[in-house]
Amino acid sequence: METGLYERDRAGVQDFVLLENYQSEDAFIDNLKKRFQENLIYTYIGQVLISVNPYKQLPIYSDEHIKEYRNKHLYEMPPHVFAVTDNAFRSLIEESRAQCVLISGESGSGKTEASKKVLQYIAACSGHQTTVEGVKDRLLKSNPVLEAFGNAKTNRNDNSSRFGKYMDIQFDYTGAPIGGNILNYLLEKSRVVGQNAGERNFHIFYQLLAGADDKLLQELNLQRNLNNYRYLSDGGKGTVASIDDVESFRIVQQALGVIDFSPEEQREIFSIIGSILHLGNVSFNEVDGNAEVAKRDLVVTVSRLLGVNATELNAALTHRTIDARGDVVTSPLNHDLAVYARDALAKAVYDRLFSWLVQRLNISLQAKDTRGARNKVMGILDIYGFEIFSKNNFEQFCINFCNEKLQQLFIELTLKSEQDEYRREGIEWIPVEYFDNKVICNLIEEKHKGIISILDEECLRPGDPTDLTFLEKLTHKLATHHHYICHEKAPTQVQKIMGRDEFRLVHYAGEVTYSVNGFLDKNNDLLFRDLKETLSKAGNSIVRTCFPEQELRSKKRPETAVTQFKASLNNLMDILMCKEPSYIRCIKPNDLQTPGVFKDELVLHQVKYLGLMENLRVRRAGFAYRRTYDLFLHRYKCLSKSTWPNYKGSGGSREGVKLLVKDLGYGPEDYRLGTTKLFIRWPRTLFDTEDAYQAK
Ligand code: ADP
Ligand code: MG
Repeated sequence: METGLYERDRAGVQDFVLLENYQSEDAFIDNLKKRFQENLIYTYIGQVLISVNPYKQLPIYSDEHIKEYRNKHLYEMPPHVFAVTDNAFRSLIEESRAQCVLISGESGSGKTEASKKVLQYIAACSGHQTTVEGVKDRLLKSNPVLEAFGNAKTNRNDNSSRFGKYMDIQFDYTGAPIGGNILNYLLEKSRVVGQNAGERNFHIFYQLLAGADDKLLQELNLQRNLNNYRYLSDGGKGTVASIDDVESFRIVQQALGVIDFSPEEQREIFSIIGSILHLGNVSFNEVDGNAEVAKRDLVVTVSRLLGVNATELNAALTHRTIDARGDVVTSPLNHDLAVYARDALAKAVYDRLFSWLVQRLNISLQAKDTRGARNKVMGILDIYGFEIFSKNNFEQFCINFCNEKLQQLFIELTLKSEQDEYRREGIEWIPVEYFDNKVICNLIEEKHKGIISILDEECLRPGDPTDLTFLEKLTHKLATHHHYICHEKAPTQVQKIMGRDEFRLVHYAGEVTYSVNGFLDKNNDLLFRDLKETLSKAGNSIVRTCFPEQELRSKKRPETAVTQFKASLNNLMDILMCKEPSYIRCIKPNDLQTPGVFKDELVLHQVKYLGLMENLRVRRAGFAYRRTYDLFLHRYKCLSKSTWPNYKGSGGSREGVKLLVKDLGYGPEDYRLGTTKLFIRWPRTLFDTEDAYQAK
C-alpha cells in the first residue's frame, strides 16, 4: 500500500515553525506526540532536528533511504537525521565550511544512535575508492570498541555511554573521508569499582568473561562465573536481555583486528581487564592498625598480568610514601586507606587504558595526506545531556557544567548570531528575549571567584579541608549570587528537601541540588605515589605508557579533575566555535525503554530544558532562509524571465533579486532585503515554486 519509500507525513507539522499556536507548550507537545504515534520521530524547528526515541527499529534507515536523501534540500524531504547530515555534508563539500553536528539530550534519548546514523550516512554517500574504504571501515569499527570499554547498562539505558565523545572526520576535496580524530571526555571511572543496584560495570568485563575462548581465560586466570568478581557483583544482574555479550565480544575482537591492533596489543588489553577483576577481589586484614593483603596469590596474579613485581605491588597497596621537599617518608596504610588505594588503582588503570585506546584509535585513523583538506572537517559531538537525579554528585556537577557551556555555544551560534546578523544587515527586527546563561558559566568557572576555583583552593589548602569546609567557603563567597542557593537561605519549601551537606544551583535548565559528599576526593583524584611508581615499570607496555615515569619526577602538582575537565571543555568550545553547527535534540518519550509510550510530563520537562520553546520563538520571529544576492540570483535566476538567462539591468544582483522575488509572488511581508543578503520567512514557498517549475 505504500506509494513510495515514505509514508508522507500524516500527522502534525513537520516543522514547528508552521505551528499556529507556536507559543503554547501544549500545542508543542501535542504535535510531537501525534507524530510519534505515527512513527514520525523527527520534526524540525527550522534547521534544528528534534528526534524522539522510538525504542523500536523503524524501516527508515536503509540504503534506499540514504539515496533518497542525497543532495536534497532540507525542506524537500520529510525531516530525518539523514537530511541534516546531507545538508551539513553539502555545505562542507560545496562551500568548504567546516561543520559540526551537535547532539544533545538526556541519557537514553538516542544521541549515540543518532551519531551512528550520521556516520552511516557519511560512509554510504562519500567516495567509494578502495583507498577510502579502509578509512571508513576504521571509522565505523571504532564505535564497537569504544562502546565496549566506555558504555554500560544503567537504569536509564542498557547501552549508556559513560563518556563524552567528539569525533572529527576529515575529507579530501572530492568529499571522500581520509581520516578521523576522537576526543574523549570524563569517563565515569567510579563505575569500575562499584555500581548502583540494577546497573552493570563497563560492557567489556562481561564480554570478556562470556566471549573469550577457554585458552584466553586460562591465561588470565579467570572463570566465567560473574559472581566470583566483586567489581561485577554490586549491581546484581549480570545478564541483560537486550545484550549479547558473546556476540559483542566477537565484534570487538574483529574490530580491533580491522583497526590494526596487533595480537600482542590485544593480549595486553585483556590482561589489564583481567587484572582489574582480580584486583577487585584483593582484600585486607588489619593488624595493629596496619593493613595486610589477605590473599597474596591474588596480588601475584595481578602482578603477572600487569608485568610488575609482586612484592613491590603488595607493598604499594599497603603503604604510602610521601616526598615532602626531599624528606621521603614511608608509612603503612590502615584498612580503609588500603581499600581506597586499591580502588583508586583500579579506576586509574581503567581510565588510562580507555584514553590510551582512544589515542591508539586516533593513530590508525590518522589521515595519510591532508593536502587540500583544510576546512573539510565534520565534527560529531555525542555528549552527556543535562542530569537531574534525586542525588547529584561531583559527576553531575561536571556534566551539567558541560551543558551550560554547550548552551552558551548554542546561544552564541544561534540566538545571538541570528540577531546580530539582522542588525548588521539593517533589517528591522524586534529583539527576542532569551536567557543568557553566561552568568551561570561564570558562577562555575570564573577565575578566583567561581565554584571551580573555590573547590581547587580547598583541595590545595593545608590543614584539614573537608567536603563540608568546601561547602562553607562556597556559601560564604556565593550566598548572594542569584543562581546559588545554600541551605540557610533557601525558601522553606526547598529547605525541606535540602540536606545540610548540599548546595543548589539554578541552571538554565532547572534547579539542581548537589551533595558535596566526595567532591574533594574526586577532584583530587589521588593515586598514591607508590602505585604509580610500580606501574611505571610495568612489563605490560600499555600500562607503562599510561603511567610514564616523568609524571613521578614532575614537581608540579597534577591538575585537579575539574580543572582538567574545564580545560578540555574550553578546548572543545574553541573547536566548535569555528564550525557551522547542525543541531540534533534528542528526546526520551518514557522511562521504561518501551516503544509506543509517550509521557507528556517527561517530554515537556525535556522540551523546557533543551530550550526548544525559546528556540522556536526566535526562529518564528526571524527569516528561515537567507542567501547573499549573488548566490541567490545564480541559483534561481532560471525561475523568472527578468533574470533568465542573465540579469542585465543596472543595480547589480540586489536589483536582480528584487525583480526575481516579486516574480515569484512573494508579498512584502514574506521577505526582506538586507545590505548583502536576501531574507525569506518561509523557504518552503520557494521550493514549491521550484518543484512546480521543474515539473513543467
Ligand atoms: P543516549 O546515547 O542518548 O544515552 P542511545 O542512543 O544509546 O541513547 O539510545 C538508547 C536506546 O534507545 C538504544 O540502545 C536503542 O535501543 C534505542 N534507540 C535510540 N534511537 C533509536 C532509533 N532512532 N531507532 C530505534 N531505536 C533507537
Ligand atoms: Mg550515548
